[in-house]
Amino acid sequence: MMKKGLLISLVLFVLTACQPAQPQADLVWPDQVGPGRAISQADKEPVSQDPADKPAYLAPLGRPGQACIQAAGDYRNYYEIYVASFYDSDGDGIGDLNGIRQKLDYIVDMGFTGIWLMPIHPSNTYHKYDVKDYYAIDPTYGTMADMEALIADCQARNVALIIDLVVNHTGDDHAWFQEAVRYLKSLSPDREARLEDCPYLGYYYFTRDSAKGSSYHQIAGSDWYYEGVFWDQMPDLNLDNPDLRQELKAVMEFWLDKGISGFRLDAVKEYYSSRRSKNIEFLTWLVQAARDKKPDVYLVGENWDTFAEIGQYYKSGLPSLFNFALATAEGKVAQVVNGKPNHTAKSFVEAMVKINQTFSQNNPYYMDGLFIANHDNVRMANYFNGDQNKIKMAAGMYLTMTGVSFTYYGEEIGMVSSGTKDENKRTAMVWGLEAEGQTQDPVGTEDFDQTGLSVADQVGEEDSLIRYYQRALHLRQDIPALAAGQVRVLEAYSGQVVAGVEKTWQDQTIQVFYNISNQVQSLDLVEDSWQDQEIIGALTVKSEDYPGWQNKTLTLPPYSIIVLGEK
Ligand code: CA
Repeated sequence: MMKKGLLISLVLFVLTACQPAQPQADLVWPDQVGPGRAISQADKEPVSQDPADKPAYLAPLGRPGQACIQAAGDYRNYYEIYVASFYDSDGDGIGDLNGIRQKLDYIVDMGFTGIWLMPIHPSNTYHKYDVKDYYAIDPTYGTMADMEALIADCQARNVALIIDLVVNHTGDDHAWFQEAVRYLKSLSPDREARLEDCPYLGYYYFTRDSAKGSSYHQIAGSDWYYEGVFWDQMPDLNLDNPDLRQELKAVMEFWLDKGISGFRLDAVKEYYSSRRSKNIEFLTWLVQAARDKKPDVYLVGENWDTFAEIGQYYKSGLPSLFNFALATAEGKVAQVVNGKPNHTAKSFVEAMVKINQTFSQNNPYYMDGLFIANHDNVRMANYFNGDQNKIKMAAGMYLTMTGVSFTYYGEEIGMVSSGTKDENKRTAMVWGLEAEGQTQDPVGTEDFDQTGLSVADQVGEEDSLIRYYQRALHLRQDIPALAAGQVRVLEAYSGQVVAGVEKTWQDQTIQVFYNISNQVQSLDLVEDSWQDQEIIGALTVKSEDYPGWQNKTLTLPPYSIIVLGEK
């Protein structure tokens, strides 16, 4: 049973969620260190609806009068949800769409302004990346009416909702594939297959050549083979087929008509098995097809590849690609926090500039897809052996970078994974409320201890990880230049453990300083133009740690991030 004190704090936590215009208490800083700034929605400039008033950097879509990116509000904070493990509304132990609706207050109160749902379509696997029907909802997750209700709830809260679009392959039980297989099995060995007889033949890669290699699988009871690079139950789609492209366009239109904001594009590198120019050609078509329907559609692509290779894919016009160079234990953020050789604080802020130079070459309107771990990666808390200070520092670092952020459910409470088995990275969200909403782990999960504290354990604790995430996410929303600003390295103040950048967004200019060490650091800031700046935001790992700003000296507590700006 839950302790009474925890229940009270949880109730308070939920209550604050219903008052988004109220400043968050935890964002207000004591007077002696310069008051913090919690900007309410009411303080913000109204967003103009006139395309002519759009800021100059916004992307033209190739046609006058349209912009693909609206405002600083498009630099959203997304929350990635594996539905089955999130929140169960009907007691069957499987998370569902109504469960997400029930936790929407939690999501909004945390500071998330977007949700990415991993696949929701009918599928025979627990992860659902092999789609059986793009137009339906998996019955274990709910109904189409439940999805429509979730979309309406998200719209009412100004939460962007995107869903996984998996078009590299389908499930082998998809009707297109089944139709084609039925036809091929009906052919006698001396007869050629004809597209006129079965158009779905053109949707996949079928052959009678038995020597095509291990990515081809035989259709039982026939002399035909098909390509399935990942798995025999995931036949690869032939994305050159014009009829298939029209089908996929119709799928996107169907969901955009329902009111979602866009799509997360699965495995874009695999579309044509790492043939970059072909992949980019298809993505270019897909981006335009989606924008024809919804000019401000948001799309983010998964190209799990090198930094340079990710950059190439911005040529497609995609607004975002996940920046894998930041993520995982080998990524830039974890390497810096773990003090690996050559990964200084300065190298972190230099990476911000390098990202901008590399990606903007191919799409000046790109928005970097910031994340540190997703459903395919070892969980973030594992990178730091449970060191709460380092976990917070890493979170603060990626959540203060310019771009669109993606936080994997459970990361905010420090959930861990075990080994490399995928199921172990997708285990049940730990709410800490006995039975209520609690899901079961995916079938196949190995037995390991979930060492992180539950949501209920953490929400009332000022120094908890979840509260740190909440502060960081709100800071991103409240200071537009933090999420959307152009970056310049402050060379004079950047070194081994401390580094600074200046960020500019429209008429807002801020300075952001990082202390990645476990010691207090101080900087003498000589620029006269900064003397009127105040501390407008700060992330510290302990609530008793206060930044100082006096007589041109900035004092940075251990593992802290300080934002100076005009009050
Ligand atoms: Ca359920």
